[in-house]
Amino acid sequence: MLDTKNCIFCKIIRGEIPSKTLVNNKELIAFRDIAPQAPTHILIVPKKHIPSLDDVTDSDLLGRMMTLAAALARQEGVAKTGYRVVINTGADGGQSVDHLHIHLLGGRKMTWPPG
Ligand code: 5GP
Ligand code: ZN
Repeated sequence: MLDTKNCIFCKIIRGEIPSKTLVNNKELIAFRDIAPQAPTHILIVPKKHIPSLDDVTDSDLLGRMMTLAAALARQEGVAKTGYRVVINTGADGGQSVDHLHIHLLGGRKMTWPPG
């Protein structure tokens, strides 16, 4: 069974935990990361509890998440200077919240390779 009861992002979606929300529509929510790693650090999250990228079957949903990330980058004023989108997946990927999310990071120069 999917653990939506104790999932921190499901709690944010249900309004049980406050968040700095930028977008909240029928399918997606986007809010600022509580521990920002860049001047702009936004999480784009489907309302449906999907544990990770490895569980995605709806490619259109992923497309809409990515399109929203790009729109938010423009809205935040980082699109021209550039930004990074990241989906940490699984233990080696550094995923710490088991509810699919895209990180949108911008407002500073990123390094490569990532840590
Ligand atoms: P992951 O490590 O799974 O890729 O990313 C999880 C992200 O969620 C982290 O960047 C972490 O700072 C963020 N996060 C964890 N708990 C909360 C919370 O309660 N509120 C917000 N806004 N972000 C959170
Ligand atoms: Zn969840």
